Amino acid sequence: MKTVDDFNFKGKTALVRVDFNVPLDENGIVTDPTRIRRAKPTILKILNDGGKAVLMSHLGRPKGRDEKLSLKHIVPAVEKELGVPVHFSPEISGPVAEKAAKDLPFGQVLLLENLRFDPREKKGDPGFARELARLGDIYVNDAFGTAHRAHASTAVIARYFPGRKAAGHLLASETNTIQKLLTEARHPVTAIIGGAKVSSKIGVLENLLNVVDNLIIVGGMAFTFLKALGYPTGNSLVEDDYVETARNILEKAKTNNIRLLLPVDVVAADRFAPDAQTRIVPADNIPDGWMGLDIGPKTREQIARVVNQSKTVLWNGPAGVFEMEPFAEGTVAIARALAEATKNGAFTVVGGGDSVAALEKYGLAGKVSYVSTGGGAMLEMLEGKELPGIKALEEE
Ligand code: AMP
Repeated sequence: MKTVDDFNFKGKTALVRVDFNVPLDENGIVTDPTRIRRAKPTILKILNDGGKAVLMSHLGRPKGRDEKLSLKHIVPAVEKELGVPVHFSPEISGPVAEKAAKDLPFGQVLLLENLRFDPREKKGDPGFARELARLGDIYVNDAFGTAHRAHASTAVIARYFPGRKAAGHLLASETNTIQKLLTEARHPVTAIIGGAKVSSKIGVLENLLNVVDNLIIVGGMAFTFLKALGYPTGNSLVEDDYVETARNILEKAKTNNIRLLLPVDVVAADRFAPDAQTRIVPADNIPDGWMGLDIGPKTREQIARVVNQSKTVLWNGPAGVFEMEPFAEGTVAIARALAEATKNGAFTVVGGGDSVAALEKYGLAGKVSYVSTGGGAMLEMLEGKELPGIKALEEE
């Protein structure tokens, strides 16, 4: 796979797929510019070569045109982060966008309107991809967060740029980091996987059993495993259809000699609310009428110990319903444990919107080795799947 460093963009128009799916407040102001900042090295390389950059991204999940999700709102933030003039095209493709790209001075940036205003984007429509392709000489993909989607701008478009397509710095570093984690990590390797459901993470859990020494399962998904072990789980989130799957994963861990850790205690609540009554109960005996919404103090300690003894740690998914303060402590403890391990020389990688948000909330994002901008994309790579966005760059 070629990267932007393999090209000289002098006199060229780069058509760059970025992931500027940033959070906006009610006034349309960008509240966290991290994703813009992470695309900066790629864009500056193009401009510094003497090229110009036409940027395309999605924002949110619009159904057709939706003023609130117009990318015009983020132009000031992009300008501020990049430090160069940023023009905006209210059309995504077609004559208006083509003229804007042609008139764009070298050294400057054009941002196209939200790709998902056109329903053909998500369908991976080749006609739409061809229209977009008319906006640049070289295609660059730096949107790791959507690399697992076979959309028009993330994968299909690449076929119109034979020999003229490249990965951006961010996409390349995300890919290299995860590959390194899967193939040449220093042991012991520990993965902490949390979040709501087992059903969305089975593939990852199964593949990780070939990679890690310790697999720690937290979050809502842990209760399906506790049920598989025959423990009463009260009103906790359990996916009954996946109890058998959980049992198989427990078996495979045993066969592979992997230490699989489940919570030993949980913060149980009498209802799903921030002001619920709570009590700490053993994970193997959650009383009727109570639901586990976070890991308990003994589990937090146990995780910190294992993380501390690891040379490589991967974390994806919260340990509890961290959006509610009383159930955030487990997630915070994991964030802290990773920061501590990093300080002691471990290589630590965090992905997934919730885990990254937790790191940021507690000021720890700079204290781990690598923060991935991809949740779903990272999980699919960890499953061992080839991502459509990356495959498209590798093809001739
Ligand atoms: P996911 O999208 O699968 O990564 O799951 C993230 C969501 O899982 C967050 O919104 C958490 O509130 C939720 N979650 C974590 N732990 C629990 C739990 N014990 N019970 C219910 N939901 C949970």
